[in-house]
Amino acid sequence: MQRRKSIQVDCGGVKIGGDAPISVQSMLNIPPHRVEENIAAAKKLKAAGCEILRIAVPNEDGVKLISALKNSVDIPIVADIHFDYRLALASVDAGVDKVRINPGNIGDDDNVRRVAQACKSRNIPIRIGVNSGSVSKQILQKYGSPTPEALVESALYHASLLTKWDFNDIVLSLKSSNVVYAIEAYTLAAQQCDYPLHVGITETGTRNQGTIKSAVGIGAILSKGIGDTIRVSLTDDPVYEVETAIGILKALGLRRGGINIISCPTCGRTKSDLIGTVHKVEAAIKEQGLDNKPLTVAIMGCEVNGPGEAREADIGLACGEKNAIIFKHGEKVRSIPIEDCIDEMIKEIKEYR
Ligand code: SF4
Repeated sequence: MQRRKSIQVDCGGVKIGGDAPISVQSMLNIPPHRVEENIAAAKKLKAAGCEILRIAVPNEDGVKLISALKNSVDIPIVADIHFDYRLALASVDAGVDKVRINPGNIGDDDNVRRVAQACKSRNIPIRIGVNSGSVSKQILQKYGSPTPEALVESALYHASLLTKWDFNDIVLSLKSSNVVYAIEAYTLAAQQCDYPLHVGITETGTRNQGTIKSAVGIGAILSKGIGDTIRVSLTDDPVYEVETAIGILKALGLRRGGINIISCPTCGRTKSDLIGTVHKVEAAIKEQGLDNKPLTVAIMGCEVNGPGEAREADIGLACGEKNAIIFKHGEKVRSIPIEDCIDEMIKEIKEYR
């Protein structure tokens, strides 16, 4: 896939834009004064594959949390700030790696200058995060609603307030809860600037709905070669956000590695509990830390069609009523009792070279 050329910024050692791989972000959702819980959650998110971690900085507690996280977890931290430029300056002093702030909302030009200069002096990028709820009144009046054009105009307006002070390490996001609007907004922004784009769909809802909207929206944007870092937003444990984001990247071939499980939808020929088997194999892969092996693993519901349908799999399991067969690249290797199939598959995955 040909990716759009954007300028590159550095977020605490993770590059965003240019030819850098598309990074995965998430956000802590625990009040900042609960420092130990936030540190534990940050470690969990890093272990799940989160590469950049955002925290809300609504007050001084948020600033203290930045220092605590920087001392405990090796992951770039982004301070999310609304309105108060002093919190942005304090976050920079606390060692934050990136600031998310909308310069048009922080008061007069001098406040913007101070934030821009503080970030510039430490090579800290700024993300301008525009969403349907934050488009300014004037722009809303012009377009009538937060249309894709309104989102882009708003984002570029905020960016102009920073470039005025010779600050260019800018990342833009233009999130809408309307998937079609978001796709159009990112497409327009990609045509009108070369800032790296942080892609996401906002307020997507719970895990089920949110995963669908994110996969469709973020997936459609990425499939056009647009997007440098992504965040899936779910009303759920942020670990699912990271898992979903990685899944979207893998589905588009934008991230390789790790076990890719393919399994059939089951049909009237299925004679075993295939759905249960797939879930158990998936859980065992995770529990035993095998997720990073670059393998395609097939789990199929019958011995007649299974190996043929999953010919591209490195290792496959085709389940019958009493027996299952293990196959590799479509060729039968051996037959095993059905009750041993999960253990045998895990053994095969461990031993595969
Ligand atoms: Fe049906 Fe067999 Fe195909 Fe699974 S692999 S969907 S059980 S025909």
